[in-house]
Amino acid sequence: MASDPTRFVIIGNGAAGTYAAEQLRKDDAAAEIVMIDDEKYTLYNRVNFEEKTVSIEPGSGLGYDKLLIATGGRPNPLRVPGSDNAPYLFNFQYFDETKAMVARIPESKIAVVLGGSFIGYELTEAFAFRKLETHWLQRGPWFLRRSLDEPGGKVVSLLAADAGVHLHYEESIEKLERQNGQLKVQGSKGFTATADLVGVGLGLTMNIDIFKGTALQTKVGVLTNEFLETNVPDVWAAGDVAEFYDVVSQRHHRMGTWDNSLNHGRHVAKNMLGAKQPYVEVPTYASGMFNSNISVMGVTTEEEPDAESLYEVEYDARNYKRLFFLGDKLVGAILIGKMKGRKKVLELISSRTPVEERQKVFELLAMPEVPAKPAAAE
Ligand SMILES: Cc1cc2nc3c(=O)[nH]c(=O)nc-3n(C[C@H](O)[C@H](O)[C@H](O)COP(=O)(O)OP(=O)(O)OC[C@H]3O[C@@H](n4cnc5c(N)ncnc54)[C@H](O)[C@@H]3O)c2cc1C
Repeated sequence: MASDPTRFVIIGNGAAGTYAAEQLRKDDAAAEIVMIDDEKYTLYNRVNFEEKTVSIEPGSGLGYDKLLIATGGRPNPLRVPGSDNAPYLFNFQYFDETKAMVARIPESKIAVVLGGSFIGYELTEAFAFRKLETHWLQRGPWFLRRSLDEPGGKVVSLLAADAGVHLHYEESIEKLERQNGQLKVQGSKGFTATADLVGVGLGLTMNIDIFKGTALQTKVGVLTNEFLETNVPDVWAAGDVAEFYDVVSQRHHRMGTWDNSLNHGRHVAKNMLGAKQPYVEVPTYASGMFNSNISVMGVTTEEEPDAESLYEVEYDARNYKRLFFLGDKLVGAILIGKMKGRKKVLELISSRTPVEERQKVFELLAMPEVPAKPAAAE
């Protein structure tokens, strides 16, 4: 008699959960796959690891053989006087918010954004690109202050100014007031504006609340080993919420990127089916940066404040490179502007090749890329 199919339960249908489900179906046609998500409806959602069940409603219990936690994070809200239920104040996480912003833009002239990381940047670019008078407030002295140094921050400032953005560093929002269908914004250091739109990117809080009081080990996210296994048998974690042991940088960390979530999803599915392979990828984040590009690879001073670094900058051309070293290993890099050398950086990081002269890495990056195939003889 055929045995019952294995039941895989996945909590979260973002990139990690969805790509895991796709891979499970591909590799195990008979698997029973149940996905649970709370995008539209609030769920009573508890997990009982001893009984191997998740509860979707009070009193209900859905059994699992193998469980994947892919619950991601939620944006930290702006909490200042006047922010509760303020109209035209947006985080940037859910599709409904995006639709509401898009609907508001044609009737808007002035936008204020708070946030010195990628969501803040994306909102700023979106408003500036649509020709709104855009004020970008950042609590730090420059963009991505934990990973970029002052010259790198200056290159971002130049790119933002080129795009017509008004920059306000070491400034935050202290108060919001409704005023004739707009929001009066009071800054902490004297900034004021009457805005049609206010966007905020203040980081994420991981969705781990439902595991409180259980045996599952959590820190900022859900802790896993290099196989994306948690400390609880038959339970894995993937995507933004996974605080995984990274064999490349040899430390635990979390990545909030699409590529990481997608790769985690595919990888964890194979391990849930029994492969037991370590996840080996150099973490990368690539984004537009106004009319240029930024790429963050590996570990930077954000995760490893003691990493030593070198930089090269060309302000006029808006190009910048910063390399991060731990001992004789290149562990990370940030490129703004020209992306030349990105592949070599990734190779050096993943191969953990000892670097004798750090400055020479810049020369290596400037060398022509080796073509993938030799040119055919004439
Ligand atoms: C505006 C924006 C722009 C971005 N831009 C980029 C970019 O340019 N490049 C890049 O690499 N990355 C970018 N990212 C990040 C990238 O989108 C995320 O890293 C990725 O989508 C995370 O996927 P995930 O599956 O781990 O989590 P999520 O997509 O957060 O999915 C988690 C799901 O789990 C559900 N959930 C949570 N708790 C429960 C529960 N208790 N019960 C049931 N369901 C639950 C949530 O509702 C959600 O649907 C951006 C993110 C945002 C918000």
